[in-house]
Amino acid sequence: MTKKGKTPSLISGKMPSLIVAKGRRHCTRCKREICRGSRCADVPIPGTMGDKTYCTDCLLEIVEKSREDLNQIENQIRNVISP
Ligand SMILES: [Zn+2]
Repeated sequence: MTKKGKTPSLISGKMPSLIVAKGRRHCTRCKREICRGSRCADVPIPGTMGDKTYCTDCLLEIVEKSREDLNQIENQIRNVISP
């Protein structure tokens, strides 16, 4: 039996980070203004060094969508294991 080590995650690289906006920003998705001092999220753009800024409402929707996608993958795997 080989050592498996740490389980890898499908979220690779940098995790989205909740930050306090240092200046006025706009949400990438809903274009809503994010005021200085309010919470927003920096989500890394895959394959780049850049980030996208989202408001917390949009980030929640993105997290929910990610969960749906993960559930879909999980169901597919489970169907393969025990049809
Ligand atoms: Zn938004």
